[in-house]
Amino acid sequence: MADIYTMGIDIGSSASKCLILKNGTEIAGSAVIAAGTGTSGPRRAQEEALAAAGISMKDIRRSTATGYGRNTVEGVDAVVSELSCHAIGIHAVFPDVRTLIDIGGQDAKVIRVSENGRLDSFVMNDKCAAGTGRFLDVMARVLELDVSELEEKSAKAKNVVNISSTCTVFAESEVISQLSNNVDICDLVAGIHRSVAVRTAGLVRRLGVVEPVAMSGGVALNGGVVSALEEELGLTIKVSPLAQLNGAYGAAVHAWGQLEKETL
Ligand code: ADP
Repeated sequence: MADIYTMGIDIGSSASKCLILKNGTEIAGSAVIAAGTGTSGPRRAQEEALAAAGISMKDIRRSTATGYGRNTVEGVDAVVSELSCHAIGIHAVFPDVRTLIDIGGQDAKVIRVSENGRLDSFVMNDKCAAGTGRFLDVMARVLELDVSELEEKSAKAKNVVNISSTCTVFAESEVISQLSNNVDICDLVAGIHRSVAVRTAGLVRRLGVVEPVAMSGGVALNGGVVSALEEELGLTIKVSPLAQLNGAYGAAVHAWGQLEKETL
């Protein structure tokens, strides 16, 4: 029998993600483009994922779009909220996970996942940059680092600096003033991670902690934030190996589910 491909497209505020599933289980191709909704990112992510899978758009039997920019993707078969897709995605990777923390470019969400992989309830911070990827992006720029370098720096910290401002703009000024006082950059980065962890832990407690807990989203690529959050919450966090692709994965699994329903 010919292989059946489904596509999940997750258009975020800062990155576009696409994942292609083969026969509902195997990841045939994926792509993450650091450009979100309203840019060429969505198209490029789809093209790259198709190229990685070695197929073309006509081979895709079903597609589902999700994410902040989900309504802007043309030609998809379904549009589903990112909260539902994140729940589906993490359930497919870690079926036992009950709490998912997803930190993206402009928001942070904590999602309660039911035993059958559905969205039960959630809390979200989409009003303030503090505690999101944006906060880390701003701080990395001030420190002349790439966000991918933050983890390595924080691992070398000896005296974690306390960042007292919660507001991103004021915290940025605080970091600049610490830099001019020759504070060690590694200690500063660890302080920045702790600040994100404190904000996120507050969000997690609002929903209530039910273990096992997992983390996804672009910020999950930063092990420094994951460790700071584990410390803050006093528990172990499972990091999705798909991290930033969790929503796109959930969307591709959703598309496969739609196809299965039709053929039943
Ligand atoms: P969205 O879906 O809102 O566009 P993502 O889940 O794609 O957001 O996450 C984007 C964020 O992930 C960026 O703001 C950045 O801080 C962080 N990020 C992206 N790549 C990396 C990396 N290699 N290491 C650490 N953080 C990263």
